[in-house]
Amino acid sequence: MPIANLIPLVCRRSLQRIAFILPLVLVTASVARAQSYDILLQGGHVIDPANRIDQVMDVAISGDRIVRVAPSLPVRRAKKVLNVKGLYVTPGLIDLHAHVYGYSGSVFPDDTALLAGTTTVVDAGGAGWRSFDDFRKRIIEPSRTRVLVFLNIVGRGMIGPEAENNVEDMDPVKTAAKIEENPNEIVGIKVAHFVLPGWTALERAIEAGRLSNTPVIVDDSIFTNRARTSREKLLRVMRPGDLHTHVYNDRQLEVVDRFTGELQPYILEARKRGVLFDLGHGRGSFLWPVAVRAMKQGFPPDTISTDLHSSSIMIQQSDMANCISKLMNLGMKLPDAVERSTVNPARAIKRFPELGTLGEGQVADVAVFELKTGVFAFKDAWSKKLLGTQKLECVATIRNGRLVADLNGLGFPLWNKAGEYEVIP
Ligand SMILES: [Zn+2]
Repeated sequence: MPIANLIPLVCRRSLQRIAFILPLVLVTASVARAQSYDILLQGGHVIDPANRIDQVMDVAISGDRIVRVAPSLPVRRAKKVLNVKGLYVTPGLIDLHAHVYGYSGSVFPDDTALLAGTTTVVDAGGAGWRSFDDFRKRIIEPSRTRVLVFLNIVGRGMIGPEAENNVEDMDPVKTAAKIEENPNEIVGIKVAHFVLPGWTALERAIEAGRLSNTPVIVDDSIFTNRARTSREKLLRVMRPGDLHTHVYNDRQLEVVDRFTGELQPYILEARKRGVLFDLGHGRGSFLWPVAVRAMKQGFPPDTISTDLHSSSIMIQQSDMANCISKLMNLGMKLPDAVERSTVNPARAIKRFPELGTLGEGQVADVAVFELKTGVFAFKDAWSKKLLGTQKLECVATIRNGRLVADLNGLGFPLWNKAGEYEVIP
C-alpha cells in the first residue's frame, strides 16, 4: 500500500495546501530580500538623528520610499547608483519659515528650496482662510517641493499693513475650519506684523490654534509694543509648543540684554515651559552680535529656518544650507544642525516621523551635502561679514524618490573622449 494512503484524507489536503503555499512564502521572502532599488546612495556619511545614525552607510530607495539604510548594500540590485563617498546624506531639510505665496517677496518654492537640500517648506502666513484655495491651486499643487502652510490669522493673508492690522478680519472659527478642511497641508497658524496695542492678533491666533489643535508661530515687534512686552508674550500668552520666529534679531525678542550682553532670564524660562524658538533668518532677522552672544551662552534656535524671500536670498545667503553653515561657524555641530533642520521642525508641526527622518518605510526625501573647508564669508541681515572655515553646500536632492537636483552630475553617466557613455565608477 502506498504510504500516502496511510495518511487520512483531511491531512493530505492540508499537506497539499502547505505544499502549494510554501513556495509562495519562500518566493515572497526571497523577493523581499532581493528587492531592487531605484536609487542607491552608496558610501555616504549618513546623519539621521531620529535613528541615531551618524556613520558611513548606504541608503536604498524604491519608488517613493526609503527601503534600506545599512552598510554595503548590493549595487547589482540598483537601477541608479549615486556614489556619495566623502559626502553627507541627510533627511530632506524642512524649512519651517519660508514665503512662497501672498507676501510681496514670495518665491516659487522649487526655484530655491530644492537647490539647497530643502524638500519641505512651510509657508509662513502668506495665505489666510480667504485665499488658501488659490494658494493650493497656484503653488502647492504644481510644486515638486512639499509645501505646508501656517495659515495667517488674517483672512486675506500677508498682503500689507492695512490688511494685517484689520482686527475685523481675524476670525478664529473660520481659520480653524479651513485648517480642519485641509489637514494634509495646513499645520498651524501665523500671526505677524501686528502693530496695534494689546494682544488681539495673538489671542485670536491662539484661539484658532486651540480649536484646530495646531501650533501658532509668532512674528511681531517689541518696538511697536503698547501695553505688551516680550516677557509677557513668552511667559503668559503663548502656549507650550507655540513658536517664536526671528530669534536672533533684536526687535522681536531681545534674547540678549543689549547693555550687559547676557541672555535674558525670561528667554530661558520660556524655553523651559516649552515655547520654541525658530531662526527665521530673512533680510532683517539674523544679526551677528545677537547670534554670536546667544550661541556662546548656549542658546541655539530649536528650529533652523530661512524666512526666504526675494530680498533675503541674494545678499544675505539665507537658504537652509547657508543658515546651517553660519550656525556651524558659531560652534554648532553638523548632526545637531541636521536635527534642528529635520526632526525638530517635523515635531513642531506634528509631522514626525512621517517627515524628518531616513527611517525605513518613510518617504524618500533626501539631501546630499558637501562640507567644504577653507575661508568663507558669511553675511548677516545687516550685510556685515563674518569669516568662517566651514561651508555646507547641497550636492543633490531627492524628493519623493526622484532625483530633483543634481549639482555635480552624481546621477549621470560620464561622457568620455571616445564619444561613449561610461558607467559611473
Ligand atoms: Zn517671514
